[in-house]
Amino acid sequence: LRILGIETSCDETAAAVVERDAEGHSNVLSDVVLSQLDEHSAYGGVVPEIAARAHVEALDELIEEALARANVSLDDVDAIAATSGPGLIGGLLVGLMTGKAIARAAGKPLYAINHLEGHALTARLTDGLSFPYLMLLVSGGHTQLILVRGVGQYERWGTTIDDALGEAFDKTAKLLGLPYPGGPAVERMARDGNPARFDFPRPLVGEARLDFSFSGLKTAVRQAAQDIAPLSDQDVADICASFQKAVSRTLKDRIGRGLQRFKTEFPATGEKPALVVAGGVAANLELRGTLQALCDKNGFRFVAPPLRLCTDNAVMIAWAGLERMATGAAPDALDVQPRSRWPLDSNAETLIGFGK
Ligand code: ATP
Ligand code: MG
Ligand code: FE
Repeated sequence: LRILGIETSCDETAAAVVERDAEGHSNVLSDVVLSQLDEHSAYGGVVPEIAARAHVEALDELIEEALARANVSLDDVDAIAATSGPGLIGGLLVGLMTGKAIARAAGKPLYAINHLEGHALTARLTDGLSFPYLMLLVSGGHTQLILVRGVGQYERWGTTIDDALGEAFDKTAKLLGLPYPGGPAVERMARDGNPARFDFPRPLVGEARLDFSFSGLKTAVRQAAQDIAPLSDQDVADICASFQKAVSRTLKDRIGRGLQRFKTEFPATGEKPALVVAGGVAANLELRGTLQALCDKNGFRFVAPPLRLCTDNAVMIAWAGLERMATGAAPDALDVQPRSRWPLDSNAETLIGFGK
């Protein structure tokens, strides 16, 4: 099976070709990503109109490049997989329309892929994980703990009730005068800071539910910054270090509970259970260290796919299409519509009402 994947849900335009041969070996034949970071950084965040236009301008050429690098033509692919949600509707329209047009013209089936499903299944491509496993998605738009039971079988165990974690990093950076995107800047400053100087809140820590909340943390950072303004570089470093420590402690508590629940629902089967991390925040070394230690302590395998496949890419979309096709799932009709909100598990809407 060989699939062409297309991703346009946020601020990365991406195309990729992935294949799985008869023996079950998988290969990434090409992986092309164009980040729009430069277009958006002046605004301190992603501007939907700019994103949609940039996708239109770049996508056709990126797809050609992905096919060329894979050394295949459209005749050689078995299906097209395009992200159809959740995300910014303008970008989703561009990618899905293009996917439909190619599918129609080349006479190939189309799979409309949930972006979160792409993140959820990536570890099976990179690390050959078998079901079930837990996945923590921490990006600019999402903070979710998901039980991955099988292809198409996902349970959302926890989600943020306000800001996403990447968003909390970005907002914290902004109010400290650090550049966008905030995550890398905060992490860099935190290295020279004193994590014990500020005692920032750890929202929901100790609660039985597995949700997250980060807006109170951001408010506390703002308050601390106002209290000691004007800020020296050392002040900023101390705030960043204290912020990161609070995040770290919060994840330790929340995810620790998730691992316990997993062990209760899936008593040892011989194979070591696994926690997978995905999303841009997974680049953060302190948070990675925290999760690694937590997994070691609980007898879990900690799986962090290469960063390029943790952030937005089209390999994961092609791979999700391939997994679906391999299970015999029917392709989508060519009138399938993009969905800006699209929770991964169908019950999610009734659970809490945050589709992000
Ligand atoms: P989504 O995938 O949810 O639609 P997105 O494009 O914002 O949205 P990613 O590209 O996966 O998500 O991740 C970007 C986010 O990751 C930003 O919020 C950024 O600040 C954060 N981030 C990147 N590097 C780090 C780091 N070293 N520490 C913390 N956060 C980081
Ligand atoms: Mg992104
Ligand atoms: Fe993403």
